[in-house]
Amino acid sequence: MIIVTRADATEDQIQHIVDRIKEWGLRPEVSRGALRVVIGVVGPEEVIREKPLAAIPGVESVTPVLKPYKLVAHEFRQTASLVEVGGVTFGGPRVVVISGPCSVESREQLIAIASEVKKAGARVLRGGAFKPRTSPYAFQGLGVDGLKLLAEAREATGLPVITEIMDTKDLEVIEQYADCLQVGARNMQNFALLKEVGRSKLPVMLKRGMSATIKDLLMSAEYILNEGNFNVLLCERGIRTFETYTRNTLDLNAVPVLKRETHLPVIVDPTHGIGLHEHVPAMALAAVAAGADGLMVEVHNSPELAKSDGEQALLPEEFGDMVKRVRAVAEAVGRQL
Ligand code: PEP
Ligand code: MN
Repeated sequence: MIIVTRADATEDQIQHIVDRIKEWGLRPEVSRGALRVVIGVVGPEEVIREKPLAAIPGVESVTPVLKPYKLVAHEFRQTASLVEVGGVTFGGPRVVVISGPCSVESREQLIAIASEVKKAGARVLRGGAFKPRTSPYAFQGLGVDGLKLLAEAREATGLPVITEIMDTKDLEVIEQYADCLQVGARNMQNFALLKEVGRSKLPVMLKRGMSATIKDLLMSAEYILNEGNFNVLLCERGIRTFETYTRNTLDLNAVPVLKRETHLPVIVDPTHGIGLHEHVPAMALAAVAAGADGLMVEVHNSPELAKSDGEQALLPEEFGDMVKRVRAVAEAVGRQL
């Protein structure tokens, strides 16, 4: 349920609304827009429905969220959410570039790539320590040693770190080393994992499943917010279609649709979306033009030796060239980098 307060509601009245909601055993989520304060009321619908919310002084309107997703719905906040990852803000005027290798392979590899992408304009480092691979014979990641290297790379570059969580049992150790949890495409509907990361203090980047609809993605995000974690980034990374030339089909339709449907920031991963390094920059530019709040682009200093996803990685200099052009597109659509 959404409470919109009157434009002239006082701070005391807003506090009173919040206190009342808590007294009833419900949870208030307060969002401050330019003109009004919006208070989302979280709790069992049958309990909320019987409370006389409209009778509380300072309340202008009370509206149910009719969508199947409630907490992620745009109307729940009526303003864009800002999500912080280690001091970097997503969802504001600046488009954030996230980059790094697909997998953390060694100290030398990671520090070299992290330094290069930072120099080129990346503001967040991403690397996989626990890797979801289609084949059990493929490189599975360095595990905890990889996490330690990510923390070293953060120390060396100052870039906050995103890394993938595949199993609920790894949350505690990942929380010790990372600034943001990635839930990958293959785990988008791993509901036990979604609930677990929903209880974490860390923000979560949730990637769209390869055969998930936009609504499925929003419902999965709802699981995370429902546990109390509102710091969620949604990531479009391409879906499976009948097309076989490209690895996936990057669904840029999802960007404006998600921006309308949810208050959460929207990131685009053109790397997995197209899967061919020579076409990644074009799709990165298109994603920013479509309104993405961030990009996630894989870079490797020696793609032919990469232990995963070498065919889609940009070289650091290609990445630098892409960032320059991304900056120009961001400015053309009223954003900055
Ligand atoms: C990745 O980001 O390296 C990855 C494995 O992505 P996805 O889950 O989108 O396939
Ligand atoms: Mn990858």
